[in-house]
Amino acid sequence: MQKSRRLLKVLLACSLAAIPSFSFQRPPAEAEKTAEQVLRQAIIIDTHADTPQMMLDEGYDLAQPDSTFMVSIPKMRQGHLGAEFFSIWVDVTWPKQDLIHRALDLMDVVYEQVGRHSDVLGMATTADEIVRLHLQGKFAILMGVEGGHIIEDDLRVLDIYQRLGVRYMTLTHTANTDWADSSGDQAKWNGLTDLGKQVVQRMNRLGMMVDISHVSDKTFYDALAVTRAPVIASHSSCRALCNVPRNMTDDMIRALAKNGGVMDINFYSGFLSQAYADAYKKIEKQLDAQLAAARARYASQGKRLPYPEEQEIEHSLLGGLPVPSYTVIADHIDHAVQVGGVDHVGLGSDFDGIDSAPKGMEDVSKLPDLVRELARRGYSEQDMKKILGGNLLRVMRQVERVSHEMRARN
Ligand SMILES: [Zn+2]
Ligand SMILES: [Zn+2]
Repeated sequence: MQKSRRLLKVLLACSLAAIPSFSFQRPPAEAEKTAEQVLRQAIIIDTHADTPQMMLDEGYDLAQPDSTFMVSIPKMRQGHLGAEFFSIWVDVTWPKQDLIHRALDLMDVVYEQVGRHSDVLGMATTADEIVRLHLQGKFAILMGVEGGHIIEDDLRVLDIYQRLGVRYMTLTHTANTDWADSSGDQAKWNGLTDLGKQVVQRMNRLGMMVDISHVSDKTFYDALAVTRAPVIASHSSCRALCNVPRNMTDDMIRALAKNGGVMDINFYSGFLSQAYADAYKKIEKQLDAQLAAARARYASQGKRLPYPEEQEIEHSLLGGLPVPSYTVIADHIDHAVQVGGVDHVGLGSDFDGIDSAPKGMEDVSKLPDLVRELARRGYSEQDMKKILGGNLLRVMRQVERVSHEMRARN
């Protein structure tokens, strides 16, 4: 009797443990309490925002109280953000011999902003530094290079970027590099070339996270086969929920989990909602034509199209599209957790790089509402902290460890 009761207890415990944490719904009052508790304790890390281009091209200051941009210090404060990875992104059409120059300028404005607002911002290059800055009540600022083309095929540039504080690089942006295929291009190399594999190994050695957002599926699997450290997808969502090449298939999510990595869910409406993605496709050419015409108009006067005007054109055309609710972000988190496990999911908003964010998640100040939604869906406090930033810290630490081991060996 005693024995069978114990067995029953064990079986019950096992079956409860097997149920994913989000399958419980929390009553509203309890959910609110849980969310507040998590917001007080969690270090929320966003792994992708494209704000540096605004700082460089238009002198945008992060302290500006009423900017139209998605990331600012007041918005970060309201959003309970702990750390932001600013993207050092250079367009694939940028003159090839000027890519590094542009990247250095972008890094410089990030340092300039951190210097100017050192009372609230601090540069971080390790997981421990993120935690230390958080304990000091400051926002941690990090940098990731967006697009392998930005090293101009020179492995030594990776070393230089690493010394300047860059802690991840997406292997491609929207076009193939000379050594890796992109999800936005026709396959040319069947994934990674030998040079591409050397890039991954060099990044492992340097302690720079290998970022597989934007790459083709084959490049993803090639990178996983070569890497000695966990990889990240700094801003990618689930293809099972929104079928676009930029998102990850369930098989890719499982492979990433096996590698120990983390996928950070992208907040772009067109990567979250199939209805939005389909509607966007129909107006894409028209939008591109309008933007090209506006750019040409400015270029004829030797100027560039200002970001606010670009936003205006986008909003006038995109306004009629079926923008999803922010709860769709939680749908993608649920799916990624179900497929890959709660240890392999994070947040990569893509703020200031996207022309449509879900309703209720217009900028970084709205993050607490996503935390409340996760609390309503029944995630445990511990699991929420992992998703909000804990998983990324774990991957960073692992990448740092692999780097130390590789450097110690030769
Ligand atoms: Zn970006
Ligand atoms: Zn991107």
